[in-house]
Amino acid sequence: MTETRLRFPPSPTGYLHIGGARTALYNWLYARQTGGKLILRIEDTDTGRSSLESIQGIIEGLEWLGIDFDEGPYFQTDFEAEHIAAAQKLLNQGAAYKCFCTKEELDAKREAALAAKKPLGYDRTCRNLSADEVAEKEAAGLPSVIRFKVPERTGTLGYDDRILGRIDTNYSEIDDFVIVRSNGKPLYLLCNVVDDIRDRITHIIRGQDHMTNTLKQILLYEALRAPLPVFAHMPLTLDTKKAKISKRSHGEIVAVQFYRDCGFLPWAFNNFLALLGWSAGNDQEFYSKEELIREFSLERINKSSAIFNFQKNDPKFFTDPKAIFINEHYLRTMDIGELGKMVKKELESAGLWKDAYDTDQKEWYLSTLDLIRDRFHTLKDFTSLGRAYFADDFEIDPKPLAKNVLKYEELQQWLPQLADRYEKLAEFSLEETERVARELAEELAIKPGVIINAMRTVVTGQLAGPSMFDIIITIGREKIVRRLRDVGKLFGQE
Ligand code: GLU
Repeated sequence: MTETRLRFPPSPTGYLHIGGARTALYNWLYARQTGGKLILRIEDTDTGRSSLESIQGIIEGLEWLGIDFDEGPYFQTDFEAEHIAAAQKLLNQGAAYKCFCTKEELDAKREAALAAKKPLGYDRTCRNLSADEVAEKEAAGLPSVIRFKVPERTGTLGYDDRILGRIDTNYSEIDDFVIVRSNGKPLYLLCNVVDDIRDRITHIIRGQDHMTNTLKQILLYEALRAPLPVFAHMPLTLDTKKAKISKRSHGEIVAVQFYRDCGFLPWAFNNFLALLGWSAGNDQEFYSKEELIREFSLERINKSSAIFNFQKNDPKFFTDPKAIFINEHYLRTMDIGELGKMVKKELESAGLWKDAYDTDQKEWYLSTLDLIRDRFHTLKDFTSLGRAYFADDFEIDPKPLAKNVLKYEELQQWLPQLADRYEKLAEFSLEETERVARELAEELAIKPGVIINAMRTVVTGQLAGPSMFDIIITIGREKIVRRLRDVGKLFGQE
């Protein structure tokens, strides 16, 4: 069996967006499943719109996702001579011809055809010019484009799309399309095929927005005498109103880097992307890398559009709730050592990392992460909601502050009293800290919840979290005593 060769050929005119990342992922999955190769090709021929920044962004996004390549990046502009040579070859073998029709002439013909309700395609005026006629026009300095000569055949041209099934079109509907502009620049349509032939691509998995090119490209393969690859056209990713997702209409939220910067786990995001348009036919929601590579199939890619159900108006769950749901699952269940490495980066960039977390405080560090991860949604939560575990300068959520602390003036005496008792405890253990807190509540004739809820707010800044006494032991006696004593500051006293 020949080796499968796939490619991801982004045009670097913007960031890597969700749709592009999903295409890259599906190509990667198929390449890995079949033991084939995946090639990264940067299609930068549109020099006006391509940018270095975008190339870097795309590569960074793919790296973050862990989508690795076996070859490339190749740059389409490096192969311009090959693209021109292919056009010349088509010209020489009579599969293409020079067309001297001016834009004005073409516009006029189009309008006339429109008025007469006739087909709008090129009327093939220059298709049968003799060599002498061509030479004459060139001698007169007339500019020309090169058009592909669609074979004169009746019937249909088609292919078996691995996702959509049989796609057929009548030859009469295919226009003699331009392959080289009058400035000598080959069109993208041709470059793409020449590169795929050179790179020996066997499977083209791409968005349905490229289907308008496919039949023309099949004719180019035939004329260039190259074997046809398998085509699989993926439905587009749309929003809930069925509009195409784009940065202009949806903002940063459609860029892969946005998710990295929001603290998503790369594999969780791949898992989300995989299910955005594909399913194994059951309701399995979580896939390990190995499972997904094994289970993925082109035939099970949905035929209808993928819906990116993002929640524009929800500041917390700004994105598709499914992306958050999958992320939470991995965050809460992944190997704690692996999570430790990821949170380390977050702590480092927040200036909260201590080298001891890698040595003598490693056990503390990992068990703390394990304790707090259950309510977290992204990696960012460890330095925001979880800041109190790693620093003293954490913010206090105004809601529990009002409800659990400021409502009871007496807490300014009660919590320092608790601090005194904690300081004197022979054994600062789960049982003892709980016993002492309940004892104090009883003496004061208040509900233990008043003390416990206030303590949670004062020592973690949060309304909810793990069991209070687990928190106390984790944060440690010294800090707990200090934070309880300082409760007065929250009432505006120094
Ligand atoms: N450069 C094209 C794009 O970014 C991809 C074309 C293809 O997959 O054939 O949409």
